[in-house]
Amino acid sequence: MSDTSTIKSKKPAPQAPSASNFIRSIIETDLAAGKHAARTWGGKPGPAATHAGAPPDPAKIRTRFPPEPNGYLHIGHAKSICLNFGLARDYGGFCHLRFDDTNPEKEEQEYVDSILDAVRWLGFDWGGHLYYASDYFEHLYGFAENLIERGLAYVDSQSAEEMRANRGSFAEIGKNSPYRDRPAAENLRLLREMRGGTHADGAHVLRAKIDMASPNINLRDPAMYRIRHAAHHRTGDKWCIYPTYDWAHGVSDALENITHSICTLEFEDHRPLYDWFNERLAEGGQLQRPLPQQIEFARLNLTYVVLSKRKLIQLVEEKHVDGWDDPRMPTLVGARRRGYTPESFHLFAERIGVSKADSWIDYSVLEDCVREDLNQRAERRIAVLDPVKLVIDNYPENQEEECHAPNHPQKPELGKRVVPFSNELWIEREDFTETPPKGYFRLFPGNSVRLRYGYVVKCTGCEKDARGNVTAVHCEYAPDTKSGTPGADKVKVKGNIHWISARHACTAEVRLYDRLFKVPNPGAERDFLEDLNPDSKKIITARLEPAVKNAKLEERFQFERHGYFVADLRDSKPGAPVFNRAVTLRDSWSAAPKR
Ligand code: ATP
Ligand code: MG
Repeated sequence: MSDTSTIKSKKPAPQAPSASNFIRSIIETDLAAGKHAARTWGGKPGPAATHAGAPPDPAKIRTRFPPEPNGYLHIGHAKSICLNFGLARDYGGFCHLRFDDTNPEKEEQEYVDSILDAVRWLGFDWGGHLYYASDYFEHLYGFAENLIERGLAYVDSQSAEEMRANRGSFAEIGKNSPYRDRPAAENLRLLREMRGGTHADGAHVLRAKIDMASPNINLRDPAMYRIRHAAHHRTGDKWCIYPTYDWAHGVSDALENITHSICTLEFEDHRPLYDWFNERLAEGGQLQRPLPQQIEFARLNLTYVVLSKRKLIQLVEEKHVDGWDDPRMPTLVGARRRGYTPESFHLFAERIGVSKADSWIDYSVLEDCVREDLNQRAERRIAVLDPVKLVIDNYPENQEEECHAPNHPQKPELGKRVVPFSNELWIEREDFTETPPKGYFRLFPGNSVRLRYGYVVKCTGCEKDARGNVTAVHCEYAPDTKSGTPGADKVKVKGNIHWISARHACTAEVRLYDRLFKVPNPGAERDFLEDLNPDSKKIITARLEPAVKNAKLEERFQFERHGYFVADLRDSKPGAPVFNRAVTLRDSWSAAPKR
C-alpha cells in the first residue's frame, strides 16, 4: 500500500461547519483581494457571453466538476463533487457541470445520463450551468488557427513512433521535429485539410510550439489536435480532429469564467501547460483575465475497493458483478442500491477533508458515515435472518395480541408500531443452544429471557430432526411480564432476544452484502480479480415483521441487532419486498483476523 498512511477514523463533531483547508484559504485570499472583481463575466469571443445566468456579481467564485463520460461515477468522484459544489455553495458561487467529452471512441450518452443522475442524487444542482467541452470545439479550433498565425503552433507530420522517440525522457531533452519551422501558411493549410477529412488518422498532429528542451515533458511541444475519424456522441461526424485534454481543458475553464479549477495531483505537472495556453490566448485577446487558477488536491484512495475505470469496466464486462449498479460496486449507482445515502457521502467528504498529501482512507471510515447517517434517519424494524420456531406451550393456540415497539429509540416523536404476538414465533437460530458457553444469556433449557417488547419466557427444551438439527424450541411464558405493563420488570433476566409471530411474518429475500474485495489493496500483490471476496453476496430467505411488507422502494430500516437495510430499488415491490444490507451495526473487519 505504498508509503502513504491509512486514515482509520477522524471524527469531528457531525454538525461542524466545513473545516478550513488550503483550497478555502486560496479562495478567501482571492475574494479578499478582489481578484475576480475585474472580471466582466461576459467576455468575447467565448461562449460565456451567451451563457444564460452568467452573474454580474464579481464577488463570487466559479468551480466546475468535469467528468469524462466514459464510465459511471464512483466514490472518488463523490469527493470531487462534494468539494466543487460545496465550495460554490459555501462562497455563494456557482459550480458548473461540464462533460469533458473530447475522446469520441470511449464516450457514450448512457454515461452522460448516469452522471447527471448521480450528481443530482448527491443533492447538487448545477443551476443551468451544464456544459460540454464539445460546445467549444469551434472556439478551440479558431484559437488554434490564431496560435498558428502567431507562430505558437505547428502541424507535425512525424509518425507516432518518431514523435515518441524525439520527445526524450526525464534524463534526456527532446529533439525538434523537422516540421517545427513550417511556415504559418502551410500549417494553416494542413490544419484545414485535417479538419476537412483529407488525411488519415495519425498522418498529422497539431502541436504547440513551446520548448523541446524543457525539463517538464508536458511542455515539449504537446499535441493539441489529433485526427480521429470517429463519430462523437454529440457532434456526430462534424469533426474528425479532436482536441487533447490539455488543450481543451484550460480553455474550457477560461471560456466559462471558472475562477478555481480544482483537479487531482497527477495534473500538477500539467499546470505550466494549462497556464501557457491560457496566457498565450489572453495575450492575443482571445481570453480575458483574470485567468482561472488550477489547484491540485490528493485524490481519494480507498481501501477494499478499486476506483480505476478500467477495472470497474472489467468487473462489469466479465460479469464478476451484476452490472454497474451492483450494490457491491464502488459506483454511486451501486452505493445507492446498497442503501448508502447522499448525506453519508457529504459526511464522508467532510470527514476526510482535502489535502496535498496522498493518503489512504480505510473503507470503515465510509461505513461509519453510513451508520451515523442511517442511525438518525432509519426506523427500527425486526427481522429474523436465520429462523427457527419458538413454541410457547402455555400460550393459547388461537389467541393473538398486540405488542408495541418504538420506531426509533432516540426519537419518540416517530411513535410506535404494533407487533403481533402469538404462540409460535420465529427467533434467530443462534439465540438458542443446548450447551451454553460461559456468558451466554439467551435461550437454553432452564433459562429465561425477555422477548423484546413482549413477555419473559423460560426455555423448556427443543425438538430435533434425525440428523440432530434443532427444528423447534419450546418455552413457557410468564403472563404478568408483558413489557410496558405495571410490574413487568419484576422478573429480572439477562437475555433479551427479538422475534416475529410466525403466522404474521412476511417472508422476503434479503441480500447480505459484504465488501467486494477481501484485502485492503486489491491487485497489489496479484491480479485484482484474485482478491475478490467470494463471500461478498449471500442471499437468504428471512422472516420480517409485517410492518415492512409494504416498504417503499429505497426505504431504509435498521433491522434490530443486524444492521441497516434498504428495499432494493430494482427488485423490491410493495407487498413483496427485497432487502439489501447496507452495513452491519458494527465493523467486523477491523477486529477480524486477516482473511
Ligand atoms: P480517467 O481520467 O482515467 O477516465 P477519472 O477517474 O479521472 O478517470 P474523470 O471523469 O476524468 O475520471 O474525473 C472527473 C473528475 O473527478 C476529475 O476532476 C477528477 O480529478 C476527479 N476524480 C476522479 N477520481 C477521483 C478520486 N479518486 N478522488 C478525487 N477526485 C477524483
Ligand atoms: Mg480524468
